[in-house]
Parts: sequence; structure tokens; C-alpha cells
Amino acid sequence: MICLGIEGTAHSIGVGIIEDKQDTCKVFSNVIKIYRPEKGGIHPREAANHHATYIADLIKESVKKSKADFSDVDLIAFSKGPGLGPCLRTAATAARALSLSLDKPIIGVNHCVAHLEIGRGVINECKDPVLLYTSGANTQVIAFAEGRYRVFGETLDIGIGNCLDKFGRTLGLEFPCGPKIEELASRGGRYLDLPYSIKGMDVAFSGLVTAAEQYYTSGKSVEDICYSIQETTFAALTEVTERAMAHTEKQEVLLGGGVAANKRLRNMVQTMAEERNARFFVPPKDLCIDNGAMVAAAGHFRLLRGNRADLDLNANPNLSMS
Ligand code: AMP
Ligand code: MG
Repeated sequence: MICLGIEGTAHSIGVGIIEDKQDTCKVFSNVIKIYRPEKGGIHPREAANHHATYIADLIKESVKKSKADFSDVDLIAFSKGPGLGPCLRTAATAARALSLSLDKPIIGVNHCVAHLEIGRGVINECKDPVLLYTSGANTQVIAFAEGRYRVFGETLDIGIGNCLDKFGRTLGLEFPCGPKIEELASRGGRYLDLPYSIKGMDVAFSGLVTAAEQYYTSGKSVEDICYSIQETTFAALTEVTERAMAHTEKQEVLLGGGVAANKRLRNMVQTMAEERNARFFVPPKDLCIDNGAMVAAAGHFRLLRGNRADLDLNANPNLSMS
């Protein structure tokens, strides 16, 4: 089966094509355009306009790069939510139009679950992981339990990426600030106390950003502040992931989302996994960020589980797990 996936929940519009290989999948193509505001955060309507401008060309490019033909596509999947309303509607409309014109079935998938499914799809040994999903807006610990995907823990305020970007803006850094903070942190080493907020398997970061900003105003070393932010937030994320692994008795952990590029985060989660005799996985970077191939993989696995599209094919900014 060949599945085409369309991603458009936030800043990125992407189209990917995968072929299923029983329990795994092979990525044929994965093209993406990222909306980057000139300053400030993402304006949902402007991001949606960006997506509408590029989606038709991305679909054509993805099919061309895959060496398949439009007639080879068996299933169209799109990110139904969660995300920004105008962006979701743009991607959903494109998916519907494609499904109608090709006369092929369509399926809506959960964006966060798609980050997990692509890991299962492209990494052979990764079968049933706990996913630590760390992106700009989202931070969740997700796993399959008792017949469905469930969120075991999540941020109670801002996502880890937003936390890094917020502090980065204070320093005058350009978006995305995560990679620059990682570089600064590698030159720091003196730990400064920061709030460590965990409630059960949930985390919170906004108090930490305020405290870090106060250190900056009082003249503390930027490198040490960045180092301390990474140590504190990543330790909290590793701790809640370990709790979810203990609770679900799973032996695999998978990273996803843009912050999964961070070496210190990878290193902490890997160490935790090794200490539990569990296995650690992280997909290649182009499959960690928001992309169409992960949506195609999620559509494929959803169909394998016997889920066809329900009548409600509308985009849903607050979509929960299913
Ligand atoms: P996403 O929302 O999944 O596309 O991820 C974007 C987020 O990842 C932004 O908040 C970036 O600052 C963050 N990010 C990207 N690379 C890194 C890195 N090397 N270390 C930490 N955060 C990163
Ligand atoms: Mg994402």
C-alpha cells in the first residue's frame, strides 16, 4: 500500500509518501516548507496563507520524488489536530480535494501520535515505545495502552521548545533559539538553581523561564544560565518519561519533535534507558520535525488497526487521542 500524508498543524506544510512493508514502512519522499515569521511568533492566518500557497506544488513534488504516480496512491492521510485552526483547515481541504480528485480513501490522524508512528515505521526494532514528544508548542509523553494511544504526561503550560525560544528572545536570539542555546550551554558548566516543576507525570516550565530571565538581568553568565536551563528541563522530561515507562512496563523509549535534535536531551534519555535495560531510539532529524511522511505512517497504521475515516473529517484544533 502507498500512502500520501499531508501535515499542516502549525509552522510547517509537508507532504510525504510511504510504502508499507507489513509492520514497518519505507519513506519514498518527504518534502516540506516552513513558515518563518519575520519577527515574533506564528500568526495562524499568515501561516495558513503560506500553506495554501505551497501545498499544490508540494503534492506534485512529493509524487515526482517518490517515483510513484498519482494513480499508485492507495490512501490519503492528513493531520486532523491538534494545532492552529486556520492551518489545519488548509491541510484538511487539500487532503479532501486530493481524495476526491483521485477517488481514493482519506483518513484523519492525530499529529502527536504521528510522531510516534513514524518511529515505529522506520526503525525496525522499535515496536511499542514510550514517546517523549518535545516540540515548540507540544510536550507530551505518549504510549499505547489498553487498546489506544494515551497521554501519560504533558506540559501544564508552555512546550519545551517555546521555553527555550522564550528565553532565547530575551537574549536577542533569532527563532529557532534551541540550537543556539545548546551551543551556549556547551560552554557553560556552573549550575544555577532553577525551579524544577513536576506534578505526577506532568511538567511546567514558565516559572523557570522567569527565574532564568532574572539571572540574566542580574548579570549571571549566559552560558551558565543556558547550561542550567538544559540540565533542569531535560532532567524533568527524562524523569516523567521514566515514570511512564515504569508505569506501562515498556522497554523502549522514542524521541520525537524538534527538540529531539538536542544532544544533551538525547544523552540523558539514553542514559536513563540504559539504566533500565531499555532501548533508546531517535528517528533521523527530517522525520523528527513536523513532516508529511509521519502523517502517512500514522494513516497506514491506523488503517491496519481497522480504523477507517469516521464521518467527522473536520480539522480539530483540540483533538484528543484516539
Ligand atoms: P518543532 O515545533 O517540532 O518543529 O520544533 C521546533 C522547536 O525545536 C523550536 O522551539 C526550536 O528552538 C527547538 N529546537 C530545534 N533544535 C534544537 C536543539 N538542537 N536543541 C534544543 N531545541 C531545539
Ligand atoms: Mg510536531
